[in-house]
Amino acid sequence: MDKKLLDILVCPVCKGPLDYDKGAQELICPRDRLAFPIRDGIPVMLEEEARSLDAAAEAAEDGG
Ligand SMILES: [Zn+2]
Repeated sequence: MDKKLLDILVCPVCKGPLDYDKGAQELICPRDRLAFPIRDGIPVMLEEEARSLDAAAEAAEDGG
């Protein structure tokens, strides 16, 4: 992914900077513990599409 593109992308939740996980093809927000997927080279900056990195917190929720 383009480094310039990464520079202008921010987390839609906290507006903070993102880390690029090249192997997983995800953009990581370390503050929110969210991973946003990159599909066909296009970052999907939607909170509902993001994967939570905090498995313990998700397991505590009994809903869905
Ligand atoms: Zn964030």
